Amino acid sequence: MEYNADEHSIKCPKCGHGMNEITYGGDVVIDRCTHCQGIWFDIGEAEALKGKWMGDALDMGDPDEGKKWDAVEDISCPRCGKDMEKRSDPDQPHIWFEECAEHGMFMDAGEFTDYKHETWADWFRGLIKGGR
Ligand SMILES: [Zn+2]
Ligand SMILES: [Zn+2]
Repeated sequence: MEYNADEHSIKCPKCGHGMNEITYGGDVVIDRCTHCQGIWFDIGEAEALKGKWMGDALDMGDPDEGKKWDAVEDISCPRCGKDMEKRSDPDQPHIWFEECAEHGMFMDAGEFTDYKHETWADWFRGLIKGGR
């Protein structure tokens, strides 16, 4: 959907379409793009979310669609307009996201689901390793 300041919370830094606010669990608000399904997290939100069983419902985007948008570089923060830095999670180097150190981060469709599952798998492996 074309970005419209009255209807959308922020403009998608990747594809330029509108993003909608979604409240989750009563205390976490994220923004999801109506077009590329990318997700914007304000600082702290991704951390708050990945511990909960929420990623699947939130991240409905098709990972193939997400990969298409992965190729878009040099995006700017929807809050302040500064260039965002492309980073990967130190524990999960196959997952790339864009970050503004002051405002938050943007993930392509499908990446957050991956993020959560990997984290859960690591946690589970940790459990087994610690066994007798
Ligand atoms: Zn978008
Ligand atoms: Zn910013």
